[in-house]
Amino acid sequence: MSQKEQTNKQKIVIYWSRRDFRLNDNPALAEAINYSQTNNLEFLPIYILDNGLLEDNKFNIGTARREFLAVCLEKFAKNFKEFLIFQGNYKQIFENLLKNFEIELFVNEDIEPYSKERDNFVKKLLESNQNSLSKLNSYHDQLTIFREIRAGSGNLYSVFTPFKNAVLEEFLSAKVYPMISLKNLQVLKAVSRESLNLLKQAGTIIQSNSDIIFKLIDKPNILHYKNSDGGDKTINIDDIHQRFSVKETWYTSEEEALIVWQKFLDNKITSYKESRDGLGMDTLGVGQTSKMSVALKWGLVSVRYLKQSILEKFGPLEIISNSNLYQFIAELIWREFYRYILYHRPSVLGLEYQLKFQNKINWEKGEIADERFLAWIKGETGYKVVDASMNQLAKVGWMHNRSRMIVASILTKNLGIDWRWGQEYFRLVLLDLDEASNNGGWQWGSSTGSDPKPIRIFNPYLQTENYDKESLYQNKWLPKNYNYSKLPIIEHKLAREQALIRYNSNNFKITPRDS
Ligand code: FAD
Repeated sequence: MSQKEQTNKQKIVIYWSRRDFRLNDNPALAEAINYSQTNNLEFLPIYILDNGLLEDNKFNIGTARREFLAVCLEKFAKNFKEFLIFQGNYKQIFENLLKNFEIELFVNEDIEPYSKERDNFVKKLLESNQNSLSKLNSYHDQLTIFREIRAGSGNLYSVFTPFKNAVLEEFLSAKVYPMISLKNLQVLKAVSRESLNLLKQAGTIIQSNSDIIFKLIDKPNILHYKNSDGGDKTINIDDIHQRFSVKETWYTSEEEALIVWQKFLDNKITSYKESRDGLGMDTLGVGQTSKMSVALKWGLVSVRYLKQSILEKFGPLEIISNSNLYQFIAELIWREFYRYILYHRPSVLGLEYQLKFQNKINWEKGEIADERFLAWIKGETGYKVVDASMNQLAKVGWMHNRSRMIVASILTKNLGIDWRWGQEYFRLVLLDLDEASNNGGWQWGSSTGSDPKPIRIFNPYLQTENYDKESLYQNKWLPKNYNYSKLPIIEHKLAREQALIRYNSNNFKITPRDS
């Protein structure tokens, strides 16, 4: 009996793209193509624009990220003969698709709580009916290492260095799928006109790119966050910072991202360890770090490919013995580490990782908290390095790692503001927003996270002395009308003392470390 006779429905192969807009090392896409060719089945790539994104924006997806999505989705879709962009609720869309089709669905796995729930739902839906020939095929992508790995004690790894040592070999030897050629895409069996008409009935179809751009971007840039009593608060960021043009500032396709990567690989990686921390003239294009976080966030490149191209250029021995290359690989493994933590402890998105700090830090409340948070967002704290960093973020949707560490420490330690507020603002404005790394960074900055360290208190003056000695970074990012004579909201020495009291509410043994 043929498949069609068994269920009376046509079987098609669907590649559901989410944050993997690339042809190189894209496991789900490569396997979908392979399956379609081997079984001579029609093939269709799709994207689903969730209603939540368009209506209430409860996920704090800011306008810069919306513009990035609109532009890079359009460029990616052009690779295919047919690419459907649905708008709506994924549950409804798959339920509708299953009315007319058996679906062999291919996805790259994501590990954020919302994504896990979404994929579990779709898997159950596809595979629940005993007679169903539908199936979800999911491939490791955002978290590449073996996720069940445990420390000797049997517990999760919570300290980075032993984790890195345990996964290094696996990380370096991960398989990379070859680039899919456009020619291969053209010879695939595309969906017929008849199937396409039926497929389109499953939901609202977004017809043109201007339609997506209109739907996605023509919205106010509102920050949503929660007060300490759980009440909802909002700030309209359009009243504070001017929007910038993402497509004129950033790469927005796989091809463009690979050019940036190649430049870094050819010119900068061999001095990465020495120069990565310096703020200096760090801008897009001139800086000392790779700027790959945006490409990794949107899946324009894969972490396996970055590692593989370093291996191919320098060889395995050099990676271990050259401290610059090794440092870069270690940073990619930090990314895996935070994913591993989020995968196993999704509660960290709202709760301190370290038990002793859970809801135990006396954050500022009321008007003082509101005023300080707003001054931080506006880049008006009076700490120049913080204000320059916050302006860099507002102007390009990205910030140097050192700046991120400084502004996170100053917000939580000096200004006494709950790290969750900072996490939300970053969530709204970062182009490379990544739940796992953002949360890891905020929990690190507020000294509440995994990889426990003493309470790190960043001294903004020492940081400037060490990482922006000639004020190049500050001169670049402070606005022309910046008030240079403005005193900090709170003088650093006093802020430091208050932070220690705030963190010491339960008489914990607190060991401060100033840097
Ligand atoms: P490079 O120095 O060239 O590093 C290469 C890659 O390694 C990066 O692209 C990134 O994928 C990874 N990496 C480097 N440093 C880290 C790190 N500390 N933690 C995890 N991965 C790292 N990174 C994000 O990708 N998305 C975020 O939302 C994010 N939020 C952060 C929030 C805070 C408060 C802090 C302190 C850090 C955050 N980071 C985040 C980590 C880091 O700042 C960025 O990954 C880095 O600045 C990106 O620039 P790059 O690509 O030039 O980095």
